[in-house]
Amino acid sequence: MESKPRKRKHHLEWEGRRYRCTVCQWTWKNPPRSVCPGVSCYRVDDLPSYLVSEPELYRRHLQAAGPPDACYFRLKEPHWLWLFDVRKATPLELPKLPRFNVAARLKAWWGSGPAWCQWCGWRPESDEDWKHFTSLCCDSCRFEQEWLRQRKAVCRWAHDLMQADDWVLLATATTGLHSWAEVIELAVLRPNGEVLLHTLLRPQYLIDPEATTIHGLTDPDVQAVPTFPDIWPELSRIFKRRHTIIAYDVPFHQRVLAFTTGQYQLRLPFLSWHCLMQQYALYWGELRPDGLFRWKKLSEACKQQQVPRGRPRIRRALPQAQKSLGLLKALAAKAGPSLSQGGYAP
Ligand SMILES: [Zn+2]
Ligand SMILES: [Zn+2]
Repeated sequence: MESKPRKRKHHLEWEGRRYRCTVCQWTWKNPPRSVCPGVSCYRVDDLPSYLVSEPELYRRHLQAAGPPDACYFRLKEPHWLWLFDVRKATPLELPKLPRFNVAARLKAWWGSGPAWCQWCGWRPESDEDWKHFTSLCCDSCRFEQEWLRQRKAVCRWAHDLMQADDWVLLATATTGLHSWAEVIELAVLRPNGEVLLHTLLRPQYLIDPEATTIHGLTDPDVQAVPTFPDIWPELSRIFKRRHTIIAYDVPFHQRVLAFTTGQYQLRLPFLSWHCLMQQYALYWGELRPDGLFRWKKLSEACKQQQVPRGRPRIRRALPQAQKSLGLLKALAAKAGPSLSQGGYAP
């Protein structure tokens, strides 16, 4: 195995909004406490196809000409997977053995270790190591592969939705953030972006000042507007035709809609809800210490996927729905070969 680059401190430069390490190219809001891998560090979306892992080099009958050229950041420890530039690699030199048997020579060249991870090349040595190694794969690579598979499924899900027209995208603005908040603005979009319903609604209770700071709506804004029962025939007509609902943060929108209908003794039909926020968290893959994926704010997700965000400070229902649709489209566009996983594949 090649010697690994020495671990060292990041070489930080302040870019005006974030710190960037000039060596590994990663950026942070606050100075990081992590060590620098000493080479460019990639995540799955920006991994060039000419960078491959060491086992992949061997599979191509190549060997590294020097230390790693880059690394890939895996979600689970040990995060770094060393990568080599195939263009710089040299043909694999096998030791001379009396018998011409490529498999035996490869094994002799690779060493006497009984097994190694077919993705990253890690070899279990101690009994403890063997607990983290099954079917020629280490735990870190197994987790990463499973995540890459689920991530593809998210894009597939978005892609299939964009091909269909039997669902709607829904967003609301409410009187508060608590579970007894009422809907004061409702937006329902068709997959093609057509607005099926967008209206302000007069609530029974006052708007929480905390909620006003989010959507900018005050009590006078919702005085001369229809009430929820006024728009109910139209809404139930939409739900009758399309009972799959996509929303960013389903638990919230579902709860406030159920509360508002309940207040007027109306009954929501059976609806199949899909949460774009949950799907996006899985796609983005930021692992929390408890092992769950971190939820992203809609505006942050849009920024990450280059979806136009409009005025990010005011969270009204219609722009929220439009941004959600934009995000869904961005995910759908990634389904297929464009969702690369670079050289990190056996
Ligand atoms: Zn660095
Ligand atoms: Zn591995």
